[in-house]
Amino acid sequence: MKIIVASFQCESNSKSSMHPTKGDFEYFVGWDIFKKLAVKELFESEGFEIVPSIYANALPTSTVTRDIYDFYKDQIIKTVRDNSDADGIFIYVHGSMEVEGIGSGELYMLKEIRSIVRKDCLIALTMDLHANITDRLGDYADIICGYKTAPHVDQRESQLRAGKALCYCLKNSVKPYTYVCKIPMLVKGDTMLTANEPLVSLERRTRELEEREDVFGANLFFGHCWVDAENTSASAVVSSASKDTSESLAKDLANALWSTRKEYKFLIEAELPEECVRRALVGKEKRIFITDSGDNTTAGAEGDRTEILRLFLESNPKKKCCVAGITDYDTVKRLKDIKEGETVNVESIGRTGVLKSHGKILGWAKEIIGDSVTVSFGNVDAIFTEKRSAFIEKGNFDKANTDLTEYEVVTVKLGYLFAELKPFADREIFALSDGSSCVELKRLNLKNIVRPMFPLEDFEWKA
Ligand SMILES: [Zn+2]
Repeated sequence: MKIIVASFQCESNSKSSMHPTKGDFEYFVGWDIFKKLAVKELFESEGFEIVPSIYANALPTSTVTRDIYDFYKDQIIKTVRDNSDADGIFIYVHGSMEVEGIGSGELYMLKEIRSIVRKDCLIALTMDLHANITDRLGDYADIICGYKTAPHVDQRESQLRAGKALCYCLKNSVKPYTYVCKIPMLVKGDTMLTANEPLVSLERRTRELEEREDVFGANLFFGHCWVDAENTSASAVVSSASKDTSESLAKDLANALWSTRKEYKFLIEAELPEECVRRALVGKEKRIFITDSGDNTTAGAEGDRTEILRLFLESNPKKKCCVAGITDYDTVKRLKDIKEGETVNVESIGRTGVLKSHGKILGWAKEIIGDSVTVSFGNVDAIFTEKRSAFIEKGNFDKANTDLTEYEVVTVKLGYLFAELKPFADREIFALSDGSSCVELKRLNLKNIVRPMFPLEDFEWKA
């Protein structure tokens, strides 16, 4: 029996203006896709013939334009057309890819695949915990297995669960039924951490369900609020051997998650930007980090907002401060050939400073993706980058030729600090700032989501 394997992932942020380009995708074709996918050995050991298609995965970014979407999607469709006799298809997607003029990129692709393959071909999906599942997805996918951890550490396990379920169903001629139960809640992703209750118990419940022989996937998806679409919300999704079982288990999980909706709170210091800056400047700790969560480049934001930099400049601080990774193409290009130590004007913030250093931007896959300049405004340094960047580790500062250890207050454009930065942070303050990745649902002004939606409205609901 034959299984097609493919992956096409991009988490959309429809508030962001930066559409992904081909250069934003990590891309492999044919057998090279297994540098990134975990299911090759599994399918081989189970005796299946594998047909590898493509792997394409971009950092979270804005909605995907039609030409970029088609470029990758059509390659998967070609593999499916060339192997329309396939018994199974394994696809790893994010679940929140929003495509211009189409809506859910995953749903559109699955519909097209279904129109090509045999009626009894089984499709298994692995998806991100933050997927915004469309309620019709179950009409096209037979098995859905999502991550069970946030921050995500079980990408590999999730692929293997979906892969094993696919093998089992194919070998035993089981046609699973997937039920999607939408839950009208959109709680801040940064407060929904699976290492804490009530999520420890809820995720344990999904694992226990998956131990049943007739259940192939039991999932809670949290959704994510940065896509302004009808399918944006949490959901419970169960794939099992019968329609009734899938439906009743999914509704039980949905009601269980709904009942906890008011329990999610920040477990770290989280304040509006002005208060974050004030606290950081009077704090006694050796080094304090502020995360500019509204302009979080790892959540698809542009990284070009200067609100926190301006607050530092207005405070005229005694502490050495740095704001790292402000996207500003014009400034970097204009200052490219200016020598270190010279006085320069930075138009985007209307300030004059001293050019401190030239550097490079370290990209997501540890490659150099562009130039940076660091400019000092008294005790406040700012690192400007020609392209969107994410300062997630000390290596990003090193490549920018800026010494992280020199600073007492450091602002980065992230939500939570990445683990690699934590050793340098004696205190971490989460700034509830504005921007494309603003965590305050009320301030995002979403027009297309279903209402009522908790926490915008508080209401009674039952699946
Ligand atoms: Zn996620």
